[in-house]
Amino acid sequence: MINVACPVIGKKERQLIKEVLDSKILASGKYVSAFEQSFAKYCGTKYGIATSNGTTALHAALLMCGVKPKDKVITTSFSFIATANSILFCGAKPIFVDVDPKTFNIDLIKLEEALKKEKNVKAVLIVHLYGLTCDMDAILKLKKKYGFKLIEDACQAHGAEFKNKKAGSFGDVSAFSFYATKNMMTGEGGIVLTNNKDYDKYGRQVINHGREGHSTHTVLGYNYRLTNLAAAIGIAQLEQLESWIAKRIENATKYNETFNNLGFLQTPFIPKNSRHVFHQYTLRIDTKEREKFIKYLASNGIGSGIYYNTVMYNQPFYKQLGYKQGLCKEAEKSAQEVVSIPVHPSIKKNEILKIIKVVQGYKK
Ligand SMILES: *Cc1c(COP(=O)(O)O)cnc(C)c1O
Repeated sequence: MINVACPVIGKKERQLIKEVLDSKILASGKYVSAFEQSFAKYCGTKYGIATSNGTTALHAALLMCGVKPKDKVITTSFSFIATANSILFCGAKPIFVDVDPKTFNIDLIKLEEALKKEKNVKAVLIVHLYGLTCDMDAILKLKKKYGFKLIEDACQAHGAEFKNKKAGSFGDVSAFSFYATKNMMTGEGGIVLTNNKDYDKYGRQVINHGREGHSTHTVLGYNYRLTNLAAAIGIAQLEQLESWIAKRIENATKYNETFNNLGFLQTPFIPKNSRHVFHQYTLRIDTKEREKFIKYLASNGIGSGIYYNTVMYNQPFYKQLGYKQGLCKEAEKSAQEVVSIPVHPSIKKNEILKIIKVVQGYKK
């Protein structure tokens, strides 16, 4: 089976893990700060704070932006549940906006409509879904006009670029995940990035029990720290990220070239001014065909995944909060039609050719 995701673990990861084990400094340590600095530098921000996962990174990011109970936070409707949950963690109210059916990212016209309708929106939490950045020119223009805090959920967008600037460097704060299946990983792990010195100071307290100095706790904080072990893996992974991205783009380009003419599929849209890093290579297929297509792929040894088969507000827990089906039509339609196929860097050349042949051979 060619799986839809597969972490790459090399010699360097093993070597650094051994160094950490031998040092007996397993929790916070020098690998954590080295990883924070190198990831922030890679993305082009001043500060990085490593966290236990992407979800805790998002929670910390919102708190750093001052999101408080009852605040309004606008976000996309089509993402992993952690995006919306992080807003609820703050006691704030998620306002869901529909997606652009071409990019699967938040629809910019509907975003402005929501900003006009809802007064005093504290923050906008955007998601660069599947590794494609949102249109950051348009979003930064809205930020100037409406004055909200901007948070980027870049959990799928390590190394993605908009006009040669990296995802995670546009917002007041951004959050990444290093979960095992992301474009780079630390098992579980995350990071928040910012250019704001005060945010960095407060963020460090948020992830470490509100601590200031050695044993003084001046604000409410959590234990959201990354371990030295995980950070060591991250250091080794970051060194390889660019080569992995190149592989993903190469694979996706081959797919796009052949799948564009198939008719029964819609291939991912790649805007000219962005570097899509293909955390997922996501096709659109008629909802009546999707199940059959997935079974056909599986019977030919090809894995696939649906990200995501429901919009966040249609999850049972959110329905309970009063959100209604039909709120975001394009997102709901996307949830019915998307299917992601393997695009990761461990797929061999002959396997790519096989996947292309199998997809070409599908009969409706
Ligand atoms: C993976 C992911 C998260 C959460 O990250 P974890 O490390 O699993 O907590 C949040 N948002 C998006 C869009 C993700 O893909």
